[in-house]
Amino acid sequence: MSQPLFRTPKGTHDVLPEDHQYMTYIKKAVRHRARQAGFKRIDTPMFEERGIFERGIGAHTDIVEKELFTVSGKRDEEGKEREYALRPEFTAGICRAYIEHGMQQLPQPVELYAIGQCFRYDRPQKGRYRQFHQFDFEIIGLKDPSLDAQLIHILTKVFSDIRILSRLTLQINNIGAAESRKAYVAALRDFFIGKESRFPEIDRIRLESNPLRLLDSKEEDTRLILKSAPTLSQFLSDESKQYHATLLECLTILNIPYTENTLLVRGLDYYTQTVFEFWDSSLGAQNAVGGGGRYDGLLELFGGQPTPGVGFAGGVERMIWHMKEAGVRVPNKDHIDVFVAQLGPDAKKQCLLLIAELQENGVHTLGALGEASLKSQMGLADKFEARYTLVLGKLEAKKGTIILRDMKAGKQKEIQYETAIPEVLRLIGKSKLDTYVIKDQMGPEFDED
Ligand code: AMP
Repeated sequence: MSQPLFRTPKGTHDVLPEDHQYMTYIKKAVRHRARQAGFKRIDTPMFEERGIFERGIGAHTDIVEKELFTVSGKRDEEGKEREYALRPEFTAGICRAYIEHGMQQLPQPVELYAIGQCFRYDRPQKGRYRQFHQFDFEIIGLKDPSLDAQLIHILTKVFSDIRILSRLTLQINNIGAAESRKAYVAALRDFFIGKESRFPEIDRIRLESNPLRLLDSKEEDTRLILKSAPTLSQFLSDESKQYHATLLECLTILNIPYTENTLLVRGLDYYTQTVFEFWDSSLGAQNAVGGGGRYDGLLELFGGQPTPGVGFAGGVERMIWHMKEAGVRVPNKDHIDVFVAQLGPDAKKQCLLLIAELQENGVHTLGALGEASLKSQMGLADKFEARYTLVLGKLEAKKGTIILRDMKAGKQKEIQYETAIPEVLRLIGKSKLDTYVIKDQMGPEFDED
């Protein structure tokens, strides 16, 4: 075999047909649950001005500091140099769109969802890629613990639809309003004075730039020191405590199990109050399938009016991994119903139309229109696992007949050429035909992407 000249860039992967079956299944579950709950789909550009992410997510977060996939040196129409970045997540772009399109004029809350690629220039490892897919839900414009609970409820439904819910644990925390966090960060800094040298290098830097991030540090030494550190819950206002208690009550009403985790802060600056993640029950935070929280100050940071919001993003690749681990089988709609084999120039022309008509009728049809022998074409039909084969040789073309072979039963019969399509349709059954009709009244099956 020849050596390929090019390969996928490090940290990226091709989504091959087999994985697309999983991806389509996940997208369908997301779209279905989103529609049920009144969410509307939005697509934002895959790249935005870098400042959006710096301002929104926070300049001293991992995502911006280490992982931002920047595109620099591009000049705009006025010749000004622009710094862009590929989106590392959806929330910042969606909030920008909310302001840009005056969505505050719409009935609130505005519920939006998105599915697509995100980019983080992180060191690639298992479950961590430089290009990956997320689905994302945002509820913007209204604040109430019951909305946080409704959002979490939809997510449990999606995870349940793709049959991985039982493998996950919902971790939840309240990190308070920005003022409480400021006071807490000051207390943390005080507590760490004199202990700096006991921190591993990476956390010593965090201590300087963003001490909150120490709370979910994976470093053993840091976790030990943290055991006697002040906790965030000591700094929460009564309002935040009440908010959290009501949210937990709502979760109980909705029958959603949760684990309270006072160390959960999430890596992004924009969160206020509720934060939550769905962890792999056996591997913990290492392999979270998704996370989210409330971001009541974010829109204001982008120049909008004070507008509350809550959102969530799930990682599609990690969900696919879980589905495979759990042995979830997804429907494969890429099967071949009919293989058309032919011999001779007349037969070939006739088959060209036959294949097109079968396809038009909703039959998945393949034909080998090359010059191969009938025997090798039949071999191909076997390899494609076609259910039936139609064979049009020179003789049949002359007689106006065609051979219909049932590949599973290994039986065949010669039939009149005109009866071939109705006979195949009858054998496959009307309900199994793959017809695609754009309806006047477009139903949910319309948006397939
Ligand atoms: P985050 O908001 O960073 O917690 O991301 C939300 C979810 O997206 C995570 O729980 C992962 O499932 C997924 N995710 C984040 N970063 C990556 C990555 N680099 N590669 C694959 N999936 C990721």
